Amino acid sequence: MQSDDVVVPLDRKVDCPCGCGLFGVARYGRLKHCRGCTCRSCSGRRVRSLGHKSQGKAAHKLGLVPSGRKARSNEEDEAGALRYENKTGRVARPVITAFRNVRAQSEATRPFGDVRPFLATFDADGLHVGVFDLDHQVELALAILRNHGFEVG
Ligand SMILES: [Zn+2]
Ligand SMILES: [Zn+2]
Repeated sequence: MQSDDVVVPLDRKVDCPCGCGLFGVARYGRLKHCRGCTCRSCSGRRVRSLGHKSQGKAAHKLGLVPSGRKARSNEEDEAGALRYENKTGRVARPVITAFRNVRAQSEATRPFGDVRPFLATFDADGLHVGVFDLDHQVELALAILRNHGFEVG
């Protein structure tokens, strides 16, 4: 929004039609609210578009979309040999925080030169789940297969 203030001439700016008090550049689309408007409709749209962006990032990291190409919606859902659901924001934060804490704890006792990939496991209510950094998914996948006696790489 700061850059709009510099680039856009004053006569292109409008009062946001929703009455939120913003004075700025109207966005395209049906509602034509100002950029940065925090009404329910606009913030919902913002959350959805952040979700799409995050989902596209996950699709790239999972190898479902070739690097250099943009992830189209749905493409990442149909392609590939696994099923995934990406979450961001309020739902994701507690998971990320728990993962960070457990990883830091493990890091503190990691022997020098131990480069094995890290997996955090959580056990409660009869469910045991694993959380890992997608950036290390290939090393981790290979390690898990080796642990189970598969001959890989
Ligand atoms: Zn508004
Ligand atoms: Zn709005």
